[in-house]
Amino acid sequence: MASIEDLTVREALALILARVSVLPAEVVALSDALGRVPAVPVVAQDDLPPFANSSMDGYAVRAADLMSANSESPIRLRVIGDIAAGATPLVEVTAGTVARIMTGAPLPHGADAVVPVEDTDEPWRDANRPLPAYVSIGRSVKPGDYVRYPGEDIRAGETVISSGNVLRPQEIGVLAALGQERVTVVRRARVGVLATGDELVEVSAPLSPGKIRNSNSYAQAAQVRALGGEPVELGIARDTTANVRDKLEMAVSLGVDLLVSSAGVSVGAYDVVKDVLDESGDVAFWRVRMRPGKPLAFGAYRGIPYLGLPGNPVSAMVSFETFARPTILKMGGHRTLERPRVRAVFLEDTRSDGRESYLRAVVSREDGRYVARMTGNQGSHVMTSLTKANALVVVPEGVREVAAGTELDAVMIDWPGSVF
Ligand code: AMP
Ligand code: MG
Repeated sequence: MASIEDLTVREALALILARVSVLPAEVVALSDALGRVPAVPVVAQDDLPPFANSSMDGYAVRAADLMSANSESPIRLRVIGDIAAGATPLVEVTAGTVARIMTGAPLPHGADAVVPVEDTDEPWRDANRPLPAYVSIGRSVKPGDYVRYPGEDIRAGETVISSGNVLRPQEIGVLAALGQERVTVVRRARVGVLATGDELVEVSAPLSPGKIRNSNSYAQAAQVRALGGEPVELGIARDTTANVRDKLEMAVSLGVDLLVSSAGVSVGAYDVVKDVLDESGDVAFWRVRMRPGKPLAFGAYRGIPYLGLPGNPVSAMVSFETFARPTILKMGGHRTLERPRVRAVFLEDTRSDGRESYLRAVVSREDGRYVARMTGNQGSHVMTSLTKANALVVVPEGVREVAAGTELDAVMIDWPGSVF
Protein backbone atom coordinates (compact mmCIF):
# COMPACT_ATOMS: atom_id res chain seq x y z
CA MET A 1 0.00 0.00 0.00
CA ALA A 2 1.40 3.36 -1.04
CA SER A 3 1.91 5.85 1.71
CA ILE A 4 -0.43 8.80 2.02
CA GLU A 5 1.23 12.19 1.78
CA ASP A 6 0.00 15.54 3.03
CA LEU A 7 0.45 18.28 0.41
CA THR A 8 -0.59 21.85 -0.26
CA VAL A 9 -2.51 22.64 -3.44
CA ARG A 10 0.55 24.31 -4.93
CA GLU A 11 2.80 21.32 -4.14
CA ALA A 12 0.31 18.83 -5.56
CA LEU A 13 -0.16 20.83 -8.75
CA ALA A 14 3.60 21.24 -9.27
CA LEU A 15 4.11 17.47 -8.94
CA ILE A 16 1.34 16.78 -11.43
CA LEU A 17 2.44 19.33 -14.04
CA ALA A 18 6.02 18.10 -13.87
CA ARG A 19 4.87 14.71 -15.09
CA VAL A 20 2.80 15.64 -18.12
CA SER A 21 3.98 17.05 -21.42
CA VAL A 22 2.55 18.77 -24.45
CA LEU A 23 0.83 16.41 -26.90
CA PRO A 24 2.06 16.07 -30.50
CA ALA A 25 0.95 18.48 -33.23
CA GLU A 26 -1.52 17.93 -36.05
CA VAL A 27 -2.56 19.97 -39.07
CA VAL A 28 -6.15 21.20 -39.26
CA ALA A 29 -8.12 23.25 -41.76
CA LEU A 30 -8.36 26.92 -40.84
CA SER A 31 -12.15 26.62 -40.68
CA ASP A 32 -11.74 24.06 -37.87
CA ALA A 33 -9.06 25.97 -35.98
CA LEU A 34 -11.16 28.16 -33.68
CA GLY A 35 -10.21 27.48 -30.06
CA ARG A 36 -7.18 25.39 -31.02
CA VAL A 37 -3.64 26.15 -29.88
CA PRO A 38 -0.89 26.67 -32.48
CA ALA A 39 1.96 24.24 -31.91
CA VAL A 40 4.47 26.45 -33.68
CA PRO A 41 4.57 30.20 -34.26
CA VAL A 42 2.94 31.38 -37.47
CA VAL A 43 5.21 33.46 -39.72
CA ALA A 44 3.66 35.71 -42.38
CA GLN A 45 4.49 34.78 -45.98
CA ASP A 46 3.21 38.08 -47.37
CA ASP A 47 2.90 41.71 -46.49
CA LEU A 48 -0.48 42.87 -45.25
CA PRO A 49 -1.83 44.93 -46.94
CA PRO A 50 -0.13 43.32 -49.95
CA PHE A 51 -0.09 46.59 -51.98
CA ALA A 52 -0.65 50.34 -51.47
CA ASN A 53 -4.37 51.03 -51.65
CA SER A 54 -6.94 53.67 -50.94
CA SER A 55 -8.75 53.80 -47.60
CA MET A 56 -11.57 55.95 -49.05
CA ASP A 57 -13.70 56.35 -52.14
CA GLY A 58 -12.13 59.42 -53.72
CA TYR A 59 -9.45 60.66 -56.10
CA ALA A 60 -5.85 59.52 -56.25
CA VAL A 61 -3.73 62.67 -56.45
CA ARG A 62 -0.24 64.09 -56.24
CA ALA A 63 -0.18 66.00 -52.94
CA ALA A 64 2.13 68.58 -54.56
CA ASP A 65 -0.68 69.60 -56.97
CA LEU A 66 -2.96 70.60 -54.10
CA MET A 67 -0.51 72.49 -51.88
CA SER A 68 -2.34 75.78 -52.29
CA ALA A 69 -5.90 74.39 -52.46
CA ASN A 70 -8.53 75.51 -49.93
CA SER A 71 -12.30 75.91 -49.85
CA GLU A 72 -12.08 79.50 -51.15
CA SER A 73 -9.84 78.61 -54.07
CA PRO A 74 -10.33 75.00 -55.13
CA ILE A 75 -7.99 73.50 -57.71
CA ARG A 76 -9.38 71.89 -60.85
CA LEU A 77 -7.63 68.72 -62.00
CA ARG A 78 -8.18 66.47 -64.99
CA VAL A 79 -9.59 62.99 -64.31
CA ILE A 80 -7.61 60.45 -66.36
CA GLY A 81 -8.96 57.15 -65.11
CA ASP A 82 -11.19 55.16 -62.81
CA ILE A 83 -9.78 52.45 -60.53
CA ALA A 84 -12.18 49.96 -59.00
CA ALA A 85 -11.34 47.59 -56.14
CA GLY A 86 -9.69 44.50 -57.62
CA ALA A 87 -8.49 46.35 -60.73
CA THR A 88 -4.92 46.88 -61.90
CA PRO A 89 -4.40 50.59 -62.52
CA LEU A 90 -3.34 51.24 -66.10
CA VAL A 91 -2.97 55.00 -65.73
CA GLU A 92 -0.14 57.03 -64.28
CA VAL A 93 -1.08 60.16 -62.38
CA THR A 94 1.06 63.03 -63.66
CA ALA A 95 1.11 66.73 -62.72
CA GLY A 96 -2.38 68.26 -63.04
CA THR A 97 -4.21 64.94 -63.24
CA VAL A 98 -6.05 62.61 -60.86
CA ALA A 99 -7.74 59.19 -61.06
CA ARG A 100 -11.02 58.28 -59.41
CA ILE A 101 -10.40 55.44 -56.96
CA MET A 102 -12.53 53.18 -54.77
CA THR A 103 -11.77 51.93 -51.25
CA GLY A 104 -9.30 49.05 -51.41
CA ALA A 105 -8.25 49.76 -55.02
CA PRO A 106 -4.51 49.91 -55.77
CA LEU A 107 -2.94 53.37 -55.76
CA PRO A 108 -1.86 54.20 -59.34
CA HIS A 109 1.73 55.14 -60.23
CA GLY A 110 2.47 58.81 -59.67
CA ALA A 111 -0.18 59.32 -56.99
CA ASP A 112 0.89 59.67 -53.37
CA ALA A 113 -2.40 60.52 -51.61
CA VAL A 114 -6.17 60.24 -51.89
CA VAL A 115 -8.78 62.95 -51.50
CA PRO A 116 -12.14 61.60 -50.27
CA VAL A 117 -15.11 62.23 -52.60
CA GLU A 118 -16.73 64.31 -49.85
CA ASP A 119 -13.98 66.91 -50.30
CA THR A 120 -14.57 67.36 -54.04
CA ASP A 121 -17.30 68.83 -56.21
CA GLU A 122 -18.13 65.25 -57.27
CA PRO A 123 -19.35 63.85 -53.92
CA TRP A 124 -21.32 60.94 -55.40
CA ARG A 125 -20.61 57.33 -54.71
CA ASP A 126 -22.79 55.91 -57.46
CA ALA A 127 -20.75 53.53 -59.59
CA ASN A 128 -23.01 54.23 -62.60
CA ARG A 129 -22.29 57.94 -62.55
CA PRO A 130 -20.11 58.72 -65.57
CA LEU A 131 -16.56 59.61 -64.84
CA PRO A 132 -16.25 63.43 -64.79
CA ALA A 133 -13.67 65.02 -67.07
CA TYR A 134 -12.54 67.37 -64.31
CA VAL A 135 -12.85 67.53 -60.55
CA SER A 136 -12.43 70.52 -58.23
CA ILE A 137 -10.74 69.93 -54.89
CA GLY A 138 -10.94 72.51 -52.11
CA ARG A 139 -8.37 71.12 -49.67
CA SER A 140 -4.75 70.11 -49.50
CA VAL A 141 -3.47 66.68 -48.48
CA LYS A 142 -0.15 65.33 -47.24
CA PRO A 143 1.62 62.52 -49.07
CA GLY A 144 0.27 59.27 -47.61
CA ASP A 145 -3.15 60.65 -46.62
CA TYR A 146 -5.86 57.98 -47.05
CA VAL A 147 -3.31 55.52 -48.38
CA ARG A 148 -2.76 52.13 -46.72
CA TYR A 149 0.81 51.06 -47.43
CA PRO A 150 1.99 47.47 -47.96
CA GLY A 151 3.18 45.83 -44.77
CA GLU A 152 1.62 48.51 -42.57
CA ASP A 153 -0.18 45.82 -40.60
CA ILE A 154 2.09 42.80 -41.10
CA ARG A 155 5.50 42.43 -42.78
CA ALA A 156 6.44 39.22 -44.60
CA GLY A 157 8.70 37.19 -42.31
CA GLU A 158 7.16 38.58 -39.14
CA THR A 159 5.80 36.23 -36.46
CA VAL A 160 2.11 37.04 -36.33
CA ILE A 161 0.84 34.37 -33.97
CA SER A 162 2.90 32.82 -31.22
CA SER A 163 2.41 29.25 -30.08
CA GLY A 164 0.50 28.54 -26.91
CA ASN A 165 -2.31 31.06 -27.29
CA VAL A 166 -5.81 30.01 -28.25
CA LEU A 167 -6.89 30.96 -31.75
CA ARG A 168 -9.76 33.44 -31.48
CA PRO A 169 -11.88 34.79 -34.34
CA GLN A 170 -9.41 37.64 -34.85
CA GLU A 171 -6.46 35.23 -35.27
CA ILE A 172 -8.53 33.14 -37.68
CA GLY A 173 -9.11 36.32 -39.72
CA VAL A 174 -5.40 37.17 -39.79
CA LEU A 175 -4.48 33.63 -40.85
CA ALA A 176 -7.06 33.79 -43.63
CA ALA A 177 -5.73 37.16 -44.81
CA LEU A 178 -2.28 35.58 -44.99
CA GLY A 179 -3.49 32.64 -47.02
CA GLN A 180 -2.89 30.03 -44.31
CA GLU A 181 -5.49 27.45 -45.24
CA ARG A 182 -4.12 25.03 -42.68
CA VAL A 183 -2.72 25.47 -39.21
CA THR A 184 -0.41 23.29 -37.14
CA VAL A 185 -2.02 22.91 -33.75
CA VAL A 186 -1.55 20.76 -30.68
CA ARG A 187 -3.65 17.62 -30.75
CA ARG A 188 -6.72 17.64 -28.50
CA ALA A 189 -6.24 15.68 -25.27
CA ARG A 190 -8.28 12.47 -25.18
CA VAL A 191 -9.36 12.18 -21.58
CA GLY A 192 -10.84 8.96 -20.24
CA VAL A 193 -13.62 9.74 -17.74
CA LEU A 194 -14.46 7.01 -15.23
CA ALA A 195 -17.02 6.99 -12.43
CA THR A 196 -16.78 4.44 -9.66
CA GLY A 197 -19.27 3.31 -7.06
CA ASP A 198 -21.90 0.66 -6.41
CA GLU A 199 -24.46 3.38 -5.67
CA LEU A 200 -24.33 4.82 -9.19
CA VAL A 201 -26.86 4.32 -11.95
CA GLU A 202 -26.81 5.69 -15.47
CA VAL A 203 -28.59 9.00 -15.91
CA SER A 204 -31.16 7.31 -18.17
CA ALA A 205 -31.96 4.53 -15.66
CA PRO A 206 -34.69 4.71 -13.00
CA LEU A 207 -33.58 5.40 -9.44
CA SER A 208 -33.99 2.63 -6.89
CA PRO A 209 -33.43 2.74 -3.13
CA GLY A 210 -29.91 3.76 -2.18
CA LYS A 211 -28.92 4.68 -5.71
CA ILE A 212 -27.96 8.04 -7.19
CA ARG A 213 -27.35 9.11 -10.77
CA ASN A 214 -23.84 9.27 -12.08
CA SER A 215 -23.57 13.01 -12.46
CA ASN A 216 -19.80 13.28 -12.19
CA SER A 217 -19.15 11.66 -15.56
CA TYR A 218 -21.33 14.20 -17.33
CA ALA A 219 -19.86 17.13 -15.45
CA GLN A 220 -16.31 15.96 -16.08
CA ALA A 221 -16.88 15.21 -19.75
CA ALA A 222 -18.27 18.75 -20.04
CA GLN A 223 -15.25 20.17 -18.23
CA VAL A 224 -12.95 18.32 -20.63
CA ARG A 225 -14.89 19.60 -23.61
CA ALA A 226 -14.91 23.17 -22.32
CA LEU A 227 -11.11 22.99 -22.35
CA GLY A 228 -10.98 21.82 -25.95
CA GLY A 229 -10.29 18.20 -24.95
CA GLU A 230 -12.08 15.10 -26.14
CA PRO A 231 -13.79 13.09 -23.39
CA VAL A 232 -13.74 9.32 -23.74
CA GLU A 233 -16.61 7.90 -21.68
CA LEU A 234 -15.61 4.84 -19.70
CA GLY A 235 -18.92 4.54 -17.81
CA ILE A 236 -19.35 3.30 -14.26
CA ALA A 237 -17.03 0.85 -12.55
CA ARG A 238 -18.50 -1.11 -9.68
CA ASP A 239 -16.65 -1.21 -6.39
CA THR A 240 -14.71 -4.37 -7.29
CA THR A 241 -11.07 -4.49 -8.28
CA ALA A 242 -11.94 -6.65 -11.31
CA ASN A 243 -14.42 -4.13 -12.64
CA VAL A 244 -12.17 -1.11 -12.09
CA ARG A 245 -9.30 -2.96 -13.77
CA ASP A 246 -11.51 -3.84 -16.77
CA LYS A 247 -12.45 -0.20 -17.23
CA LEU A 248 -8.86 0.96 -17.03
CA GLU A 249 -7.77 -1.69 -19.51
CA MET A 250 -10.55 -0.51 -21.82
CA ALA A 251 -9.14 3.02 -21.54
CA VAL A 252 -5.67 1.74 -22.44
CA SER A 253 -7.03 0.06 -25.55
CA LEU A 254 -8.93 3.21 -26.52
CA GLY A 255 -5.68 5.14 -26.42
CA VAL A 256 -6.42 7.96 -23.99
CA ASP A 257 -3.86 10.60 -23.04
CA LEU A 258 -5.10 11.10 -19.48
CA LEU A 259 -7.36 9.22 -17.09
CA VAL A 260 -9.69 11.00 -14.70
CA SER A 261 -11.79 9.05 -12.24
CA SER A 262 -14.07 10.10 -9.44
CA ALA A 263 -14.59 8.49 -6.04
CA GLY A 264 -13.00 5.45 -4.50
CA VAL A 265 -9.78 7.19 -3.46
CA SER A 266 -10.59 8.02 0.15
CA VAL A 267 -10.33 5.64 3.06
CA GLY A 268 -13.71 3.87 2.78
CA ALA A 269 -13.88 0.10 2.97
CA TYR A 270 -14.89 -0.10 -0.70
CA ASP A 271 -12.40 2.35 -2.11
CA VAL A 272 -11.12 -0.21 -4.58
CA VAL A 273 -9.62 2.26 -7.07
CA LYS A 274 -6.79 2.52 -4.61
CA ASP A 275 -6.24 -1.22 -4.55
CA VAL A 276 -6.14 -1.49 -8.34
CA LEU A 277 -3.75 1.41 -8.72
CA ASP A 278 -1.59 0.10 -5.93
CA GLU A 279 -0.99 -3.18 -7.82
CA SER A 280 -0.96 -2.03 -11.47
CA GLY A 281 -0.06 1.61 -11.36
CA ASP A 282 2.57 3.94 -10.20
CA VAL A 283 0.26 6.16 -8.23
CA ALA A 284 0.57 8.24 -5.08
CA PHE A 285 -2.32 8.97 -2.75
CA TRP A 286 -2.43 12.42 -1.38
CA ARG A 287 -4.30 14.28 1.26
CA VAL A 288 -4.32 17.75 -0.22
CA ARG A 289 -4.82 20.46 2.36
CA MET A 290 -7.80 21.94 0.57
CA ARG A 291 -11.55 22.18 1.02
CA PRO A 292 -13.51 20.84 -0.74
CA GLY A 293 -11.56 17.95 -2.23
CA LYS A 294 -9.04 16.46 0.15
CA PRO A 295 -8.27 12.99 -1.25
CA LEU A 296 -6.47 12.89 -4.58
CA ALA A 297 -4.62 10.16 -6.42
CA PHE A 298 -2.02 10.95 -9.03
CA GLY A 299 0.41 8.92 -11.08
CA ALA A 300 0.24 6.70 -14.11
CA TYR A 301 -1.70 3.59 -15.04
CA ARG A 302 0.33 1.65 -17.61
CA GLY A 303 2.09 4.82 -18.58
CA ILE A 304 -1.08 6.95 -18.87
CA PRO A 305 -1.22 9.89 -16.45
CA TYR A 306 -3.94 9.24 -13.89
CA LEU A 307 -5.89 11.64 -11.71
CA GLY A 308 -8.21 10.14 -9.14
CA LEU A 309 -10.61 12.79 -7.90
CA PRO A 310 -12.88 12.62 -4.86
CA GLY A 311 -16.47 11.46 -5.38
CA ASN A 312 -18.61 14.23 -3.97
CA PRO A 313 -19.77 16.23 -6.98
CA VAL A 314 -18.53 19.60 -5.76
CA SER A 315 -15.23 18.16 -4.54
CA ALA A 316 -14.84 16.44 -7.89
CA MET A 317 -15.54 19.63 -9.82
CA VAL A 318 -13.30 21.84 -7.69
CA SER A 319 -10.50 19.26 -7.79
CA PHE A 320 -10.91 19.04 -11.54
CA GLU A 321 -10.72 22.84 -11.77
CA THR A 322 -7.65 22.92 -9.57
CA PHE A 323 -5.69 19.95 -10.90
CA ALA A 324 -7.17 18.43 -14.06
CA ARG A 325 -7.79 21.75 -15.80
CA PRO A 326 -4.17 22.97 -15.76
CA THR A 327 -3.03 19.45 -16.63
CA ILE A 328 -5.25 19.27 -19.71
CA LEU A 329 -4.28 22.81 -20.71
CA LYS A 330 -0.59 21.97 -20.42
CA MET A 331 -1.07 18.83 -22.52
CA GLY A 332 -2.99 20.96 -25.02
CA GLY A 333 -0.05 23.32 -25.44
CA HIS A 334 -1.58 26.31 -23.64
CA ARG A 335 0.69 29.00 -22.31
CA THR A 336 -1.74 30.19 -19.63
CA LEU A 337 -2.79 27.47 -17.25
CA GLU A 338 -4.42 29.55 -14.52
CA ARG A 339 -7.84 31.11 -14.41
CA PRO A 340 -7.84 34.87 -14.01
CA ARG A 341 -7.98 36.02 -10.41
CA VAL A 342 -9.23 39.26 -8.93
CA ARG A 343 -8.97 40.66 -5.43
CA ALA A 344 -12.50 40.86 -4.08
CA VAL A 345 -13.96 42.20 -0.86
CA PHE A 346 -15.68 39.31 0.89
CA LEU A 347 -18.99 40.61 2.23
CA GLU A 348 -19.76 38.00 4.88
CA ASP A 349 -18.28 36.67 8.10
CA THR A 350 -17.29 33.06 7.65
CA ARG A 351 -15.20 30.30 9.20
CA SER A 352 -12.74 27.88 7.70
CA ASP A 353 -11.00 24.83 9.14
CA GLY A 354 -7.47 25.98 8.40
CA ARG A 355 -7.24 24.22 5.02
CA GLU A 356 -7.02 26.30 1.84
CA SER A 357 -10.72 26.74 1.13
CA TYR A 358 -12.48 27.42 -2.13
CA LEU A 359 -15.79 29.12 -1.41
CA ARG A 360 -18.45 29.20 -4.10
CA ALA A 361 -19.29 32.84 -4.65
CA VAL A 362 -20.60 35.46 -7.01
CA VAL A 363 -18.11 38.20 -7.73
CA SER A 364 -19.46 41.45 -9.12
CA ARG A 365 -18.22 44.96 -9.66
CA GLU A 366 -19.71 47.49 -7.27
CA ASP A 367 -18.57 51.05 -6.63
CA GLY A 368 -15.31 50.52 -8.46
CA ARG A 369 -14.24 47.38 -6.63
CA TYR A 370 -14.93 43.67 -6.82
CA VAL A 371 -17.13 42.23 -4.10
CA ALA A 372 -17.86 38.57 -3.37
CA ARG A 373 -20.95 36.95 -1.89
CA MET A 374 -21.25 33.28 -1.06
CA THR A 375 -23.86 31.39 -3.08
CA GLY A 376 -25.28 29.39 -0.18
CA ASN A 377 -24.67 26.00 1.44
CA GLN A 378 -21.02 25.09 0.95
CA GLY A 379 -21.49 21.35 1.53
CA SER A 380 -19.47 19.27 -0.93
CA HIS A 381 -22.65 17.55 -2.14
CA VAL A 382 -24.51 20.84 -2.82
CA MET A 383 -24.18 21.44 -6.55
CA THR A 384 -26.56 24.40 -6.81
CA SER A 385 -24.18 26.68 -4.93
CA LEU A 386 -21.74 25.93 -7.74
CA THR A 387 -24.30 26.60 -10.46
CA LYS A 388 -24.94 30.03 -8.92
CA ALA A 389 -21.22 30.84 -8.62
CA ASN A 390 -18.92 32.62 -11.03
CA ALA A 391 -15.91 32.41 -8.75
CA LEU A 392 -14.13 30.38 -6.13
CA VAL A 393 -12.94 32.65 -3.35
CA VAL A 394 -9.75 31.38 -1.74
CA VAL A 395 -9.42 31.44 2.02
CA PRO A 396 -5.69 30.85 2.55
CA GLU A 397 -4.26 28.01 4.59
CA GLY A 398 -4.13 28.70 8.31
CA VAL A 399 -7.01 31.19 8.28
CA ARG A 400 -9.91 30.08 10.46
CA GLU A 401 -12.04 33.20 10.58
CA VAL A 402 -12.82 35.64 7.81
CA ALA A 403 -14.45 38.93 8.84
CA ALA A 404 -16.77 40.69 6.42
CA GLY A 405 -14.75 43.28 4.49
CA THR A 406 -11.62 41.10 4.11
CA GLU A 407 -10.02 41.19 0.65
CA LEU A 408 -9.42 37.73 -0.78
CA ASP A 409 -8.34 36.21 -4.09
CA ALA A 410 -11.22 35.10 -6.28
CA VAL A 411 -10.55 32.52 -8.99
CA MET A 412 -12.88 33.55 -11.80
CA ILE A 413 -14.39 30.36 -13.18
CA ASP A 414 -16.61 32.55 -15.34
CA TRP A 415 -17.26 36.21 -16.06
CA PRO A 416 -20.82 37.44 -16.05
CA GLY A 417 -22.26 36.88 -19.50
CA SER A 418 -19.14 35.23 -20.91
CA VAL A 419 -19.13 32.22 -23.22
CA PHE A 420 -16.76 29.62 -21.82
P1 AMP B 1 -16.51 8.18 -2.29
O1 AMP B 1 -15.33 8.98 -2.68
O2 AMP B 1 -16.64 6.90 -3.03
O3 AMP B 1 -16.58 7.99 -0.81
O4 AMP B 1 -17.79 9.05 -2.68
C1 AMP B 1 -18.09 10.26 -2.01
C2 AMP B 1 -19.50 10.71 -2.32
O5 AMP B 1 -19.60 11.06 -3.68
C3 AMP B 1 -20.57 9.68 -2.09
O6 AMP B 1 -21.69 10.31 -1.48
C4 AMP B 1 -20.90 9.20 -3.46
O7 AMP B 1 -22.19 8.70 -3.56
C5 AMP B 1 -20.73 10.44 -4.29
N1 AMP B 1 -20.40 10.09 -5.68
C6 AMP B 1 -19.41 9.28 -6.05
N2 AMP B 1 -19.36 9.16 -7.39
C7 AMP B 1 -20.34 9.94 -7.88
C8 AMP B 1 -20.80 10.21 -9.20
N3 AMP B 1 -20.20 9.68 -10.27
N4 AMP B 1 -21.83 11.08 -9.34
C9 AMP B 1 -22.41 11.63 -8.27
N5 AMP B 1 -22.03 11.39 -7.00
C10 AMP B 1 -21.01 10.53 -6.79
MG1 MG C 1 -17.57 5.14 -3.04
